Amino acid sequence: MSKVLIHPATYDNVHEAIDRVFELFPMRVKGKEVLLKPNVLRASSAQESIVTHPAVLRAVVEKMEAMGATSIVVGDNPGLFSYGANEETFTKTGLMQAAKGHYKNIGDDSRKVDFNTKFMPTVSVSSAVLDADIVISLPKFKTHGLTVLTGAIKNSYGILPGAQKAMLHKAAGSPERFHEVVVDVFRLRVPDFFIVDAVVGMEGNGPASPDLRNIGLILASDNAVAIDAVIATMMGCDPGRLRFLQKAKEAGLGDYDLNSIEVIGELKPLPDFKLPPLGGEAILRNEAMQSIIHDRTLLRPGADPVKCTGCGTCIDHCPMSALSLIENIPQVDAARCIACFCCQEMCPEQAIALR
Ligand code: SF4
Ligand code: SF4
Repeated sequence: MSKVLIHPATYDNVHEAIDRVFELFPMRVKGKEVLLKPNVLRASSAQESIVTHPAVLRAVVEKMEAMGATSIVVGDNPGLFSYGANEETFTKTGLMQAAKGHYKNIGDDSRKVDFNTKFMPTVSVSSAVLDADIVISLPKFKTHGLTVLTGAIKNSYGILPGAQKAMLHKAAGSPERFHEVVVDVFRLRVPDFFIVDAVVGMEGNGPASPDLRNIGLILASDNAVAIDAVIATMMGCDPGRLRFLQKAKEAGLGDYDLNSIEVIGELKPLPDFKLPPLGGEAILRNEAMQSIIHDRTLLRPGADPVKCTGCGTCIDHCPMSALSLIENIPQVDAARCIACFCCQEMCPEQAIALR
């Protein structure tokens, strides 16, 4: 039976909640390489609650240090509005400082892995995620216009660098298929543990809604389906109605039935919680958002011949072998390129821009 902890917390005393989490879920961290993946959707202030709060990240980083992790990497690949601005996004959100020197731009190195041929035969996943001994996902308690909520399963969407996220949005084409994509990305590397920042959550038309909600909780579990079922219930939504949870259950990733989950703490729906429409209409019918997604899928890297030294670093790091040197300047094969932007992140001369 999966277990979910619901524990009271403020951003000032969140260390106590994190201590309780690891008392209840003992984990062998000593000697391990740990990756911490907050939700870093886009550059925003901590008060906007669009990203995991820095106080939560800092408390988990300090816990991992105290538990003797060999190495700690804090990283994410930001979404649509912050492609190619990994460090800047971490800095603006306050997560850079909270990472205490453990931040890494995980968008600068990725590996090609097989995906679902219905959408894209291969995708490129941050190597830091694939190589970690332990992956701890740190989602934010938020609504989402396409998947209703963005919690443990959806947080893994950020293991894909660059515009692959937009490409998969487009390849899915419908909310129903997008739910399948989200679960397929999650399965590429199922995180080992989940700690949800529900101190201040988001309602309304997330994932970047101005409607914030003081909830005052930290949630934790070693099972994503169970913790997302608890989030859905708190939002006043029957978890069984969420397609991505149905698909995750079918894939054997866990169970959303509350009878199969041991809840430690008080689980109750938040009164009058504002949900987005359950069918994904909030984003699907939003023409401006569709246009942004479409535009992002067209982005490709291009090298500035004045800055480029022809060093070949970008070519060596392209997981799709989509770059070649022509007259000492890298040229992209647009058909091969999956817009992961590893080349841009790796260029020592900052000679690559997105076009
Ligand atoms: S890494 Fe930068 S400088 Fe080196 S070849 Fe590529 S674009 Fe040019
Ligand atoms: S050329 Fe395309 S696939 Fe290759 S590293 Fe750059 S963005 Fe990624």
